[in-house]
Amino acid sequence: MSKFCQSCGMPLEESTHGTESRGSLSEKYCHLCYENGQFIEPDITYDQMLARGKKNCRGSGSGIGQFFLSTFYPFQLKKLDRWKK
Ligand SMILES: [Zn+2]
Repeated sequence: MSKFCQSCGMPLEESTHGTESRGSLSEKYCHLCYENGQFIEPDITYDQMLARGKKNCRGSGSGIGQFFLSTFYPFQLKKLDRWKK
């Protein structure tokens, strides 16, 4: 089962893990969200993250990918640890 960043929802692959303060790889967050044991943008809101995620994926996805993104990304994002309340 693949893992997803618990902040932005992008798939965690070997090259996309964030880092903990001791330099080990984070099991929960990607390098765009989390480095050296802390969030890169600690004050980012859910809405801002949603906009950022959509922008990051734009251009790389097919038409179908775009459809899934705009339809399911908000729900996926809401289920992540960082946004669950
Ligand atoms: Zn992330």
